[in-house]
Amino acid sequence: MERNLTTSAVVLRSRRWGDLHRMVTLASAELGIIDALAYGARKGKLSGRIDLFLVGVFFLYHNPVRGDYAVVDVEPAVASEHIRADLRRMYIASFMAELVLKMHGGDSQALFNLLSQSFALLDSPAAGTADTILIQFIWRLIEVSGLEPDLVACPICERPYGVKEALSFNAAMHAPCCAVCADVDVTNGEMALGPGARRYLLYTAGLPLEDAVGVTLSETATERIRLYMLRYASIIAGGALKSLGGSLL
Ligand SMILES: [Zn+2]
Repeated sequence: MERNLTTSAVVLRSRRWGDLHRMVTLASAELGIIDALAYGARKGKLSGRIDLFLVGVFFLYHNPVRGDYAVVDVEPAVASEHIRADLRRMYIASFMAELVLKMHGGDSQALFNLLSQSFALLDSPAAGTADTILIQFIWRLIEVSGLEPDLVACPICERPYGVKEALSFNAAMHAPCCAVCADVDVTNGEMALGPGARRYLLYTAGLPLEDAVGVTLSETATERIRLYMLRYASIIAGGALKSLGGSLL
């Protein structure tokens, strides 16, 4: 295997490594999710250059004997400084990173594309609202993970949904379903997906991400779909997500 590698990647996690270095977790288009040691990222040549949520081209050194990676250099494509300057966007990006690390599945190129586009949108104050970016990210991540929900017919009994039918949810299957096949109590509305929300999801699924985040939703609809997606995310991640603890999301 090549010792020097070049890959497009996103920084999902960064932690101190001694006094001088940082250990970063990258979502790489070619290598999947990897840890890489960034020598001198705290004090030295790479200092201040490998920030959280940065998207860029990474020049890595791979030690095939130990199986580990080191960052030699980076060429940023999205610096993500607006994300880090805005507390709410910062929370959303942290949530996205945590969810990806919990799910650890799916095609690495598709995952990189989704992450890099979402961070680029989140870093640009003009593009969509933070809420629609979050909604679209979760929905598309579910699809990248191979759990694409069927919004046309119930995946359990195969009955096609009516136009005005509200969908229920089967937590064991990790999927929306009809009311008869549901295994969660949806009487409080928590995992119910109304016909308007279903239309929105079906419509935006066919659009490129940057267009989908621009599709306008009412404030009430946004709030309802946002909460639905956050609950959906915790069900498929199989447990409590740390970054869901804050109300800022
Ligand atoms: Zn059913």
